[in-house]
Amino acid sequence: MDQRVVPFPADAIARYRAAGLWGTRTIATEFQAVAARYPDRDAVVTAAGQASYRELDERADRVAAGLVELGLRPGDPLLFQVTDRLETVVAWYGVLKAGLVPVCTLAAHRANEIGGISRRTGAVAHLVEAGTKGFDLIGFAIEQRAGHPTLQHVLTIGAAADTPGVRIEDLGADTSTDLARKVVDDIQARIDPDDVAVFQLSGGTTGVPKVIPRLHAEYWYNAREYARSLGWDDTTRTGHLIPIIHNAGIVCGLHGPHSVGGCLVLTGADLSQALPILTAQRTTDVLLGHGHYPAVTGPAFAELAGTLRRVVLSGAKVPPELFGRLEAHGVWSGQLFGMGEGFFALTGPDAPREARLTTVGTPMSPLDEFKVLDVGTETELPDGQVGELCCAGPYTLRGYFDAPEQNRQAFTSDGFYRTGDLVAVRVIDGERYLSVEGRIKDLINRGGEKVSAEEVELLLLQHPRIAAAAVVAMPDPRLGERACAFLVARDQPLPPQAIQEHLAALGVAKFKWPERLEWRDELPTTSVNKIDKKALRAEITATLDAEQR
Ligand code: AMP
Repeated sequence: MDQRVVPFPADAIARYRAAGLWGTRTIATEFQAVAARYPDRDAVVTAAGQASYRELDERADRVAAGLVELGLRPGDPLLFQVTDRLETVVAWYGVLKAGLVPVCTLAAHRANEIGGISRRTGAVAHLVEAGTKGFDLIGFAIEQRAGHPTLQHVLTIGAAADTPGVRIEDLGADTSTDLARKVVDDIQARIDPDDVAVFQLSGGTTGVPKVIPRLHAEYWYNAREYARSLGWDDTTRTGHLIPIIHNAGIVCGLHGPHSVGGCLVLTGADLSQALPILTAQRTTDVLLGHGHYPAVTGPAFAELAGTLRRVVLSGAKVPPELFGRLEAHGVWSGQLFGMGEGFFALTGPDAPREARLTTVGTPMSPLDEFKVLDVGTETELPDGQVGELCCAGPYTLRGYFDAPEQNRQAFTSDGFYRTGDLVAVRVIDGERYLSVEGRIKDLINRGGEKVSAEEVELLLLQHPRIAAAAVVAMPDPRLGERACAFLVARDQPLPPQAIQEHLAALGVAKFKWPERLEWRDELPTTSVNKIDKKALRAEITATLDAEQR
């Protein structure tokens, strides 16, 4: 195993295997076993095309054979920087079949993010797509490769024949089905199921990106357990509206249904396009984040409700009115709390109504462990008190990749991951449920995309005319939160355009740009002389309230 990966303790692995939670296969071979069982069933459906399990499996085999022919080798990290398309799913399994390690970046990332992530992971290839609105991702990938220590290959999805880079569509095109499968079988036979399969990215609380190593056995188990918890089977058709390459996308949208022979209905985020596809595709299950809660209140939902069995709500407190609407439509609803680092809590089908409405449920796995600790200590709090959720278990990381210093802060002395989320245990009908009460980590949750306040502050401070910066979350009805920057100028405040130009020049992804600037002569401090962000959050919330009145 790579020294930069913190291994699960051997006794924990033995327990997870003895309990039948971790399997002994790689993700690609797990998928192939399901594909062999349900070859003619739909595996993925999008507005622009669909694939049965057989088609997806064979196309992914050819992509894998083509990647090998290009000279890519098992263990090579490959940046995924694409949106939700059928080819994204083909590429995902193709990359895994070739033994490469997908690095889950976002289409919205720019040089600031991709530069750091690609160097930290030692990425060898960069997969981008053609035709993204307002930004040439292919040109960007070619620029990123120049002078990069490891990046060698630019791969494309949806590009015209004369476009630079290697088209995923052309990979393995001349390879027979049998030969492609043989190439894949040879590679997979040599991969340890306890080795890294995927690099996910952390929600981000620090100035540098943190990389989460997800291992074959535990990552597939995460998805299989999610499907099991919701009672999914091969008749399940799971709608997914948010980026599929995110952890929630891979676990709940892709591997989850594929672990049981179900289908992914991949729609894109725009509700006016997504709802008709979900309805036409007789979707049975859908995960809705805060930004998509309005789907339930719109008129188009009634028809979809005819086939929906379950709606899982995630990311923000569930308004009772929304819950009531779903009940009126006869659709079961529950809540999910989850993270790229692993741990999921879920209100399962049997959870009482009160738990489904007011809590995020119970830990998903029977071998999950959690503690609620007094903040900044290792002292456990009694049920009912609010503290930091810390967890360990069969799919929760034991350390970020290549980050010994950050790991010392992020884990307790006995290896529990400090989530930075504030929770309390609520006992309902004798069962202990988790209720999310806030967070201590310094980030902005912008419609599910996490923005590290510290990272943006450090970027702002690189401007020669900014003397101090504090970035805080301000409430937003659509996205949940947006970033507001409180700034102190060295002389005169700058116009918003100057800040935007500064961040653009540094190659910072747009979703991280503060959407409101507040200039001050100085920033308030606490008794220990730190910037008082609590006061700033309260101030901007009150200002927004007053402006709306
Ligand atoms: P990510 O790794 O991007 O999926 O983000 C994980 C983080 O999102 C968690 O640590 C929480 O801060 C937040 N989160 C996830 N689910 C919920 C939820 N149901 N309610 C509130 N916050 C949530």
